[in-house]
Amino acid sequence: MQTKIIDFSTYSSLKIGAPIEVNLIQTPQDSKLALSQHMQVIGKANNLLVSPKATNLALLDKTFSYITDCGEYIEIGGAYPSGRIFSYFKSHNLGGLEFLQALPGSLGGLVKMNAGMKQYEIKSILHSINVNGEWHDVSTFPMNYRDSGITGIILAARFYKKIGFDTALHTQCNALRKHHPKEPSCGSCFKNPKGDYAGRLLESAELKGYRINDIAFSEQHANFLVNKGKASFEDAISLIELAKKRVFEQSGIQLECEVQILH
Ligand SMILES: Cc1cc2nc3c(=O)[nH]c(=O)nc-3n(C[C@H](O)[C@H](O)[C@H](O)COP(=O)(O)OP(=O)(O)OC[C@H]3O[C@@H](n4cnc5c(N)ncnc54)[C@H](O)[C@@H]3O)c2cc1C
Repeated sequence: MQTKIIDFSTYSSLKIGAPIEVNLIQTPQDSKLALSQHMQVIGKANNLLVSPKATNLALLDKTFSYITDCGEYIEIGGAYPSGRIFSYFKSHNLGGLEFLQALPGSLGGLVKMNAGMKQYEIKSILHSINVNGEWHDVSTFPMNYRDSGITGIILAARFYKKIGFDTALHTQCNALRKHHPKEPSCGSCFKNPKGDYAGRLLESAELKGYRINDIAFSEQHANFLVNKGKASFEDAISLIELAKKRVFEQSGIQLECEVQILH
């Protein structure tokens, strides 16, 4: 497989990491090889905390960056970026992905994480998913809150064509973004536990704005892990562990990371 060097201190949205050699998946066969060698696939690293020591990584090549109208559905390649998916759906008056404009990622990362906002999730108009070269109906996977249950490599997905882009919903989603921190971040650090909010739990554990060196929980949004300058992987891990411990001691709730950590 071909390789390329990715510097995670610039590539990842959190701006943490180091230059690492990454394998390029150019064919479904490559994806099978990557799976058999237990490679960890990355998308656009908007939900990743990558150790400078991480190895055995893989990334989809530009062959998988496409969007096609197949008549009954829209097929999108795993490497296609969310902003362009949003623009395509808007300009073709298609509904279901109005929340995507300000939700950074690639199709593969969005489907893997079942990304979304509030009750709107990627799974809502998902028809089928190509995992390592084989198409599977979406019902094959559990697709829960921020988890698809997919263990293979997502090469593409097909979406139902729901006519009618919902402008009011789009405006509503954008309004939710207004108060989000502007510093480099990975979005929400923890998943919301059932019936509660990770942000509320962190705030009541006095962690809103809490900082270890250059990594902090944002002052604007307690559940956003933000990089204040030159944050390190180790500091980020220390802050995450501290938050889990404090929240558990205070509320008995075990927070689960939404950010994916590659050691
Ligand atoms: C400012 C900001 C705001 C955000 N807001 C939201 C939000 O509102 N809602 C939300 O859900 N998320 C949000 N996120 C998180 C992020 O945008 C999503 O999780 C997105 O789906 C990540 O896509 P990615 O391509 O960057 O994936 P990555 O971060 O690279 O990877 C995420 C996970 O997907 C896996 N993965 C990536 N590509 C593939 C593939 N082809 N096949 C199989 N697995 C793959 C990786 O192994 C990893 O486990 C936000 C992030 C930021 C920085």
